[in-house]
Order: sequence, then structure tokens, then C-alpha cells
Amino acid sequence: MTDGPFWSPEPGKWAAPRDASWYDRPNVWSPKKVHVWGEDMMSACGRSILTDTLLMRLEEVPEHRRCRASGCREKWPALVA
Ligand SMILES: [Zn+2]
Repeated sequence: MTDGPFWSPEPGKWAAPRDASWYDRPNVWSPKKVHVWGEDMMSACGRSILTDTLLMRLEEVPEHRRCRASGCREKWPALVA
């Protein structure tokens, strides 16, 4: 922990889905895409606001939920067989 107001996960080492509370009608039926954590609560692909309450290790994210946008795509580790 640091003295900052927010705990900030280390960029490139964590993954998280988007924060659905930002939407009026969150889609709770389909699995959300998971993004690689970047800087300032943003995804590595540079668009999404992420939630830090659902952090996952990169290798824990199943293939079909991984964000494939440029920025996130390059950071996923190989799946362990
Ligand atoms: Zn992404």
C-alpha cells in the first residue's frame, strides 16, 4: 500500500473486466471481456474504465474472455495446457 488515495494495481500484471456500474443497463448475461490493467484505471487497450474489485491474474483469464484489442492483446501470457 502507498500513501495515495487509491491503491493502483501494477500495469501489465493484472486483468479486470469493465466496471458495469457505469452503464444504465449493465449486460449481466454475457461474460464480460476482461482487459489488461493499464494506467490510471484504464485498460491497456486505452479505452475502458476497469473495476479494481474484480482483479484477476493474467493467466487466470480464460481465452474466450480476453480482450483482443491492440494494447491488451500483446500482454496476455500463453495459456497453460
Ligand atoms: Zn482491452
